[in-house]
Amino acid sequence: MTAETSAKRKNDAATLIKPSREEAEAAVRTLIRWAGDDPVREGLKGTPDRVVRAYEEFYSGYEADPVDILSRTFEETDGYDEMVVLRDIRLESNCEHHMVPILGKAHVAYLPNKRVVGISKLARVVEIYSRRLQIQEKLTSQIANCINDVLHPKGVAVVIEAAHQCMTTRGVRKPGVTMVTSRMLGAFRDDQSTRREFLAMIGNTAHGSLSNA
Ligand SMILES: [Zn+2]
Repeated sequence: MTAETSAKRKNDAATLIKPSREEAEAAVRTLIRWAGDDPVREGLKGTPDRVVRAYEEFYSGYEADPVDILSRTFEETDGYDEMVVLRDIRLESNCEHHMVPILGKAHVAYLPNKRVVGISKLARVVEIYSRRLQIQEKLTSQIANCINDVLHPKGVAVVIEAAHQCMTTRGVRKPGVTMVTSRMLGAFRDDQSTRREFLAMIGNTAHGSLSNA
C-alpha cells in the first residue's frame, strides 16, 4: 500500500474494504486458538457466528449518521429558551485499545436557539458514537461537537461517567473506579451560572470539580 492510499484510508473509514463474514469468523477461530482452546469442540462450534453477530450490534454505529438523526428539528417551541437536559443515558461502548466494554452513563444538555430536537434523538446520537471503537475523551467531544454543529444551540454540555473493563478486569485491576469526562461549549463554557445549573440538574456533587474547570 502506498503512503497515499494509507492516508486516504485513515481519513475516510468508508473506503475501508470490509472483510467477508467468513473471514471475520475465521479470525474469531484464530483468537479462540490463541486463548488456548479448540474452536471445533462442541461448545465453541457456534461461537464465531455468534461473536460476529454480536460485533454487528457493538459496532452498528459505523452504519449510522448522527447528523441525519439531528437534522429534524422543531421550531414551534412557544419561546422555550431554557436548558434541555437528558440525564443518565445508559452508555455501552468499547475501548479502542483493548476492545473491551466501557460501561456507564452520559448526561447531555443544550440551550436551544429557536430550534429543539426530539429528546430520543439526543440519546440516539450518544448510542451511535458509542457503538464504535472509542476512547471516552473522544466520545465525549464527538457527541458535544455534533449537537453543536447541527443544532447551533447557545451551548452544549456533555458529561460521561464510565467504568473501563480494560482497567477493572485486566492491567491495574481497579474495580469501582469510574472516569468522568466533560465537554462544555458556548454558554456552558462561558457562563458559570449556566454550568452550575446544569451540574445541579444532573445532580452529582462529585462534579464539584467541574464547576470551576
Ligand atoms: Zn482499554
